[in-house]
Amino acid sequence: MNYSQRIEDLFTSQLRDWELAGVNYSLLSKVRTKRLVLKGFELLAQFNPERMRSSAAKVDSKSIEARPCFLCSMNRPAVQKGVGFEDDLTILINPFPIFNRHLTIPSEKHVDQRIGTNFLSMLNLAEKLPGFLIFYNGPECGASAPDHFHFQAGNRGFLPVESDFASGRLAEKIYCENGIELWHWRNYLRGIMTIKGSASADLVFIFNNFYRKFSQIQPDKPEPMVNILAYYQDGFWIVHIIPRKIHRPVQFFEKGEKQLLLSPASVDLGGVIILPREEDFLKITENDVRDIFEQVCLTDDEVLNLFS
Ligand SMILES: [Zn+2]
Repeated sequence: MNYSQRIEDLFTSQLRDWELAGVNYSLLSKVRTKRLVLKGFELLAQFNPERMRSSAAKVDSKSIEARPCFLCSMNRPAVQKGVGFEDDLTILINPFPIFNRHLTIPSEKHVDQRIGTNFLSMLNLAEKLPGFLIFYNGPECGASAPDHFHFQAGNRGFLPVESDFASGRLAEKIYCENGIELWHWRNYLRGIMTIKGSASADLVFIFNNFYRKFSQIQPDKPEPMVNILAYYQDGFWIVHIIPRKIHRPVQFFEKGEKQLLLSPASVDLGGVIILPREEDFLKITENDVRDIFEQVCLTDDEVLNLFS
């Protein structure tokens, strides 16, 4: 049986047998969204109170050490089942969904969140699960368990970045050789480079070059700050690389009316802004998002430099 079928079966059994997951996936159909219209593209804001634990997660090393790790198999609820992938990953249903199909894919080992040697596994997951977009949040880029390596995945066709890329209007092909393409986004409020290709070794090579160059610019970080979204379509991988400058915007730390509890990660930068508080959902505007993206992401030109 292929992975897509196994994961569909996993959803069927988990939504039936695991009450928390069953309730939370049914609530998702009632979740409120609103459109934010920017120049040439749109974003969606999603009011999702169940995501509070993730958006507001304390990820400093003291808080992390003080809590039992929710991704370690010994701490997971007995009712949560998984499907093994490669030597050391397990595909699980995420019980606090943003997507109609939302997966968490942790390592079996309690090791730090690092993409360096794991990028190929991300491509392999995308290939074996073509109905899903696989995403990675770096340790200071939205991961709520920076101490336990994991990917996440959500069903295709939900994040605007997919259709924005397919439209061909927002990114420009700046390199094309031996079947590998680099697409550079312009005026999308967040600097993005997209790698497209059919040979995984070529994508790994380009990614590793970027990683090495960006490491030199952020030498004090455990790894260069990045969000990555990847999927596989018609024999090609499409990988959106979003380098980061800071973890959380100033609005996150404000008090009272000035506060906006938005901690940007792959999903937000992919075009669906997750807001766990209703007040933020009601008041957020296009200008807030523009300001927040500018704070946490690199400019178009800075991203271009990292790949040249
Ligand atoms: Zn763990």
